[in-house]
Amino acid sequence: MSDRIRSLIRDIPDFPKPGIVFKDVTPLLADGPAFAEAVDALAGRYDGRGIDRVVAMEARGFILGAPLALRLGAGFVPVRKKGKLPHETIEETYALEYGQDTLQMHRDALIRGHRVLVVDDVLATGGTAAAVARLVRTLGAEIVECAFLMELDFLGGRAKLGDIPVHSLLRY
Ligand code: AMP
Repeated sequence: MSDRIRSLIRDIPDFPKPGIVFKDVTPLLADGPAFAEAVDALAGRYDGRGIDRVVAMEARGFILGAPLALRLGAGFVPVRKKGKLPHETIEETYALEYGQDTLQMHRDALIRGHRVLVVDDVLATGGTAAAVARLVRTLGAEIVECAFLMELDFLGGRAKLGDIPVHSLLRY
């Protein structure tokens, strides 16, 4: 199963800058049955786990998070870069290789006790997912797991998430 999905993830060397190997998921998204297989593989893991909301970060997290939410009968909550969400927000700033970035979520997106699945395409250094986890916990919701299509083991993102359970369909 995962061999087919793995074969549809394309390495783009030196994108967006020299030294980075970008994991391009567009060939996977373009293959309907393989895309469905990837979503089904993740959904199967969380069926019956009482997920209330799928929280995903722009932009590629949305592509996986929305079908996953539908499959699980859960709601979908977008996390966006600062300045994009129209209603009252909470925010978290995290360090990038150069500089920092700020992510926002609507303040009324989650309530205390909601069981949340956090979703993104790639777990790299873990800075993004850790910031999303802080947003979720600020609102008193519970993170059941962080799920990724793939994890870049050598960047140690899993450690940055501490005690939060992490699941990745593919590991590199
Ligand atoms: P990080 O905060 O370092 O874990 O980075 C995670 C975010 O950056 C995710 O939203 C990914 O989509 C993106 N990202 C980081 N590294 C890569 C990579 N090598 N290929 C594709 N996307 C990446």
